[in-house]
Amino acid sequence: MTTTKPVHFPPSAFQIKNDCLEVGGLPLTRLACRVGKTPFFAYDRALLTARVRHLRENLPDGIHVHYAMKANPMPAVVQHMATLVDGLDVASSGEMQVALDTMTPAENISFAGPGKTDSELASAIAAGIVINLESEREMESAARIGLSLGYRPKVAVRVNPDFELKSSGMKMGGGPKQFGVDAERVPAMLKRMAQLPLDFMGFHIFSGSQNLKAESIIEAQEKSVELAIRLAQDAPGAVRLLNIGGGFGIPYFPGEAPLDISLIGERLADQLPRIKKALPEAQLVIELGRYLTGEAGIYVCRIVDRKISRGQVFLVTDGGLHHHLAASGNFGQVIRKNYPVAIGNRMNADELETVSVVGPLCTPLDLLADRMEMSKADVGDLVVIFQSGAYGKTASPAAFLSHPAAAEVLV
Ligand SMILES: *Cc1c(COP(=O)(O)O)cnc(C)c1O
Repeated sequence: MTTTKPVHFPPSAFQIKNDCLEVGGLPLTRLACRVGKTPFFAYDRALLTARVRHLRENLPDGIHVHYAMKANPMPAVVQHMATLVDGLDVASSGEMQVALDTMTPAENISFAGPGKTDSELASAIAAGIVINLESEREMESAARIGLSLGYRPKVAVRVNPDFELKSSGMKMGGGPKQFGVDAERVPAMLKRMAQLPLDFMGFHIFSGSQNLKAESIIEAQEKSVELAIRLAQDAPGAVRLLNIGGGFGIPYFPGEAPLDISLIGERLADQLPRIKKALPEAQLVIELGRYLTGEAGIYVCRIVDRKISRGQVFLVTDGGLHHHLAASGNFGQVIRKNYPVAIGNRMNADELETVSVVGPLCTPLDLLADRMEMSKADVGDLVVIFQSGAYGKTASPAAFLSHPAAAEVLV
């Protein structure tokens, strides 16, 4: 019949050869054989490298790029990313241990997240990484623990800004938030810090995530710089670190266009002289997770049954929301929309069909594609979900329904 591609095809850089998707130069069918089981997540090393290169080409020199590990904390991925970026951002002591196994110097690792325990603070202080303080209580604890250990903690203040990142998938700053210290309370906190045995590094201002509007990101970055310059007046020392967050999104759904990072780079370049003048010792940092790894990963599961219910075709697979909650629409989405999904061993469809892809869980939430057009497929074929290199395996309820875990490979 037709040879047109499925309508909702991802803006993906994965190659196709002889009808089959390739990952890291390997046909998907061969990779599935190598992994030895389905489902699995596969991350393409060359695509990760290319993504960081593309980013750097668009950013002015002198800006540090940090990888926010929570997007994809697989140790092999983190090791690879550590060779490409300037630093790592962790949000738990588990992530911190993985980060410390890389070659990244401790002073280029930072630790964010509310509710850090004394034992987490002690590890971070002993490691010599930068603690992004989320509260006044955390500041006092860090000082006390540093004193008892005999190491001077490196700290930055995470500021809950007095503005929001507009049109963001997930807002993490502005208004009342559990993250950071409200901007209006920071001057008093900084005055208190001057009396404590802490090594003040600077500020961390993270306002949101999954944003595809360059203009919104630019506005938040400009406001973050302004805020930091204002707060620096009360700082106990020179600002050496200015982390203005990230929030760069990737397109998932029909009609979404990739973020224009050239525009962001240009406007950041315009700001550099002002930052240099006001905060001459400050290293400017942006921290990105999803943008760096999201498009370099796929989730692969195998069709185990093909059913027709009252005229609607269901492809039942061995994978589902227990591995990939976000693709089922249950990880922060308001309205369920389909991720880009295709049949990985039938990429050049000669027959298309509208199908729903479901998993093996006994819940109607276990839906990976809702009435999507894709190549006609049958039992044994491989379903691929694109844009799965971030917030996949570790952001999913793996224990729900007690099915086997997904494998994970970097190719
Ligand atoms: C989650 C998070 C990130 C990463 O967000 P992405 O949308 O994956 O880029 C960065 N910094 C902090 C503080 C975070 O909490």
